[in-house]
Amino acid sequence: MSEKVIIIGAGHAGGILAQQLSRAGDAFDITLIGEESWPPYERPPLSKQLLMGDIEKEKTFLRPSDFYEKKGIRLRLGTRATAINRDAKTVSLSDGSQLPYDRLALCTGAQLRRLTIPGADLAGIHYIRGIDDTLAIRAEARPGAKVVVIGGGYIGLEAAAALTKAGCAVKVIEMMDRVMARSVAEPLSRFYESAHRARGVEIMLNTGVAEFSGQGHIDGVVDADGTHHACDLVIVGIGVIQDIELAVAAGLETDSGIVVNARAQTSDPAIYAAGDCTLHPNAIIGHSVRLESVQNAVDQARCIANEWQGKGADYAEVPWFWSDQFDLKLQMAGMPEATDDVIVRGVPSDEGFSLFYLRDGKVTGVNAVNTGGDYVRGRKWIGEGRVVDPSRLADTSIPIKEV
Ligand SMILES: Cc1cc2nc3c(=O)[nH]c(=O)nc-3n(C[C@H](O)[C@H](O)[C@H](O)COP(=O)(O)OP(=O)(O)OC[C@H]3O[C@@H](n4cnc5c(N)ncnc54)[C@H](O)[C@@H]3O)c2cc1C
Repeated sequence: MSEKVIIIGAGHAGGILAQQLSRAGDAFDITLIGEESWPPYERPPLSKQLLMGDIEKEKTFLRPSDFYEKKGIRLRLGTRATAINRDAKTVSLSDGSQLPYDRLALCTGAQLRRLTIPGADLAGIHYIRGIDDTLAIRAEARPGAKVVVIGGGYIGLEAAAALTKAGCAVKVIEMMDRVMARSVAEPLSRFYESAHRARGVEIMLNTGVAEFSGQGHIDGVVDADGTHHACDLVIVGIGVIQDIELAVAAGLETDSGIVVNARAQTSDPAIYAAGDCTLHPNAIIGHSVRLESVQNAVDQARCIANEWQGKGADYAEVPWFWSDQFDLKLQMAGMPEATDDVIVRGVPSDEGFSLFYLRDGKVTGVNAVNTGGDYVRGRKWIGEGRVVDPSRLADTSIPIKEV
């Protein structure tokens, strides 16, 4: 008899998990519950190709809409899971129904962190989390429009690049003293600041935002010094908060995410979790981490699918991530810390260089700008715990594979 599987969250992790389980024939009776109206899709293009209008929304779908029915996966879109009853092993849904499960997976992702300053409800203030957000921005971002982007992280900078390419006049307001400060070393931040400026983006650092102005629709942003920045629309990219509400209400162990073990299992043996919502132990990093990346969503979903098919293995993946801004492809791997040594390989002004992060000589991270070979090698070294000679690493006359 098939085991009843419920997956809550039809995003990247949920979509991959359903796909993987459907390969096991009729071993699993799968229901995938998603509160959005779209089938599982990839979010990275939302601040890149979809925002630029280079692709249409269907291209972001993990699988065509009819895939799920063909594979016998019950996809319930526009439906929110409202509660988990662990004793009865049921999930309550927003349409009033209750579904029984043998195994449950939480793939609830993350929710937007929102600004609550005066004027935050004005029309024309956008966030980017779902397809509908990007389509709404595209409809308003006409050539010549003045756009203020709040937050100089990956999503803010990608949006700035996409909208500049679309002919908008873009200003980025960042409260820290450098962009992408949360995750990369200073030389990379400085490089991206000057690359954006050289391509027409205005970047303001050390600047907080006090309020939005406008009558019904945004017409400006007032910064913490009282300066008014006139604009036609605003994009806010100030991060996300893990969506752990259901898990907390169900009494599962949570911290900054849903706590899972190396097999993606929560504190309830019948319930697993994958993706942005989890806090997982990572043998390669050496401690528990919460990651917001496609890599983690996909690999954790696969980890669950393998475990449920009796082929389980502990999750130990090198984290990786990418960001496309203008013609600059940034590829990153590892989880470096602020105290790691930073080796620059190549010359930033050439727009093809890499940063390697070392701890006691061991490679802990790589950030490669238009240098795919360095990225591939760095990612491998992180997985191997390789110790490298910093002076050879910095010497571009030595091919990366001979360092
Ligand atoms: C604009 C943007 C650009 C990005 N760019 C990159 C990139 O370049 N590289 C990269 O690696 N990562 C990128 N990311 C991050 C990446 O997309 C996420 O890490 C990934 O989507 C996480 O997958 P997930 O399944 O955990 O969560 P999600 O894909 O967010 O899916 C969670 C789903 O669960 C649903 N849900 C939540 N609660 C319930 C409930 N109670 N009932 C029903 N449904 C529920 C949500 O509506 C959502 O659809 C980007 C993200 C965004 C928003």
